[in-house]
Amino acid sequence: MTDRVIAIAEGRHTKPLPKVGSLGAPGTISDTLGRPIRDLRISVTDRCNFRCIYCMPKEVFGADYEFLARSQLLSFEEITRLARVFKTHGVEKIRLTGGEPLLRKDLERLVAMLAEIPGLDLTLTTNGSLLAKKARALKDAGLRRVTVSLDALDDPTFMAMNDADFPVDKVLAGIAAADAAGLAPVKINMVVKRGVNEHSILPMARRFKGTDHVLRFIEFMDVGATNGWRMDDVIPSREIIDLIGAQMPLEPIDPNYPGEVAQRWRYRDGTGEIGVISSVTQAFCRSCTRARISTEGMLYTCLFATSGYDFRALLREGKSDADIRAAIAAVWSARDDRYSEIRTAETAKQRKIEMSYIGG
Ligand code: SAM
Repeated sequence: MTDRVIAIAEGRHTKPLPKVGSLGAPGTISDTLGRPIRDLRISVTDRCNFRCIYCMPKEVFGADYEFLARSQLLSFEEITRLARVFKTHGVEKIRLTGGEPLLRKDLERLVAMLAEIPGLDLTLTTNGSLLAKKARALKDAGLRRVTVSLDALDDPTFMAMNDADFPVDKVLAGIAAADAAGLAPVKINMVVKRGVNEHSILPMARRFKGTDHVLRFIEFMDVGATNGWRMDDVIPSREIIDLIGAQMPLEPIDPNYPGEVAQRWRYRDGTGEIGVISSVTQAFCRSCTRARISTEGMLYTCLFATSGYDFRALLREGKSDADIRAAIAAVWSARDDRYSEIRTAETAKQRKIEMSYIGG
């Protein structure tokens, strides 16, 4: 496996900021395809206590892997300042991610700082390992909801995927704690990889049917450069819907809001809903309104980017909020990404940024 692996740091190219154009009224910037900026994902750490085979394989992220040093990370103050400026451009939702965001020390403090920005929907994606301990404090700090990743219900499959001997029960306890704390509805993300956990699709659907949790199936994607992605490993969402629907009849329902990435389906017997995220077989670039800030403050305009813009430099060079606002406008106005629509076996081999660094 190691012969197709690249040193991760090599992929983190920065590019110069595009020329700043005219600034428009707050909330009105859009990119070259007419897409506004609405969601900001912020990676708060590049570290994780799991080694999921499709995301941070041990062969690459081993004991000698050099994670970012503390001084390289954006501070909570820097993150909050960026969030405030992004908000002036129309960002409505912030998702904290990583790596495993709950590994970042005192994360509740950051949540409390971000929660002070009026009108922001504040959420977090986690592997759930520390959630039982932290759910209440996160809720008290102002977090609204959580998404928990869980790829199987049986330990052998789950442990083979997380490659950290982490048991299912502890994640389920985290989900229960989040629900009890009011971080609801809890969304549960299951990445489906053919031949690895497809036998878990029905048990997962049955387990969460009749609860308030929303289970979402994600197509295995060619993020980063280390997960050895092949189209043959992808189970198209349509196949998942057919499989579940044959046992537990389903019908499609409307999105909660324009541009929602998951397609929603509900059980015909009224016992809840599921979602599918068809990032490979039905690309949704056309409605993508997401920007991403990496752990060290690089701005990426696509999950599949090969380079980003160094906003930490702007913050640490003493630029004003107006300068940063103009820089965001310049980047976003030049944005033309639509990777998932043009994906081929060849593009899948590009040196894309790892998801653990850019934020899932
Ligand atoms: N550690 C947190 C977690 O486990 O949710 C947040 C970061 S993780 C990178 C975010 C999400 O990305 C998880 O749901 C994970 O399963 C998903 N993910 C990672 N690699 C993926 C891939 N190659 N294809 C599809 N989803 C992937």
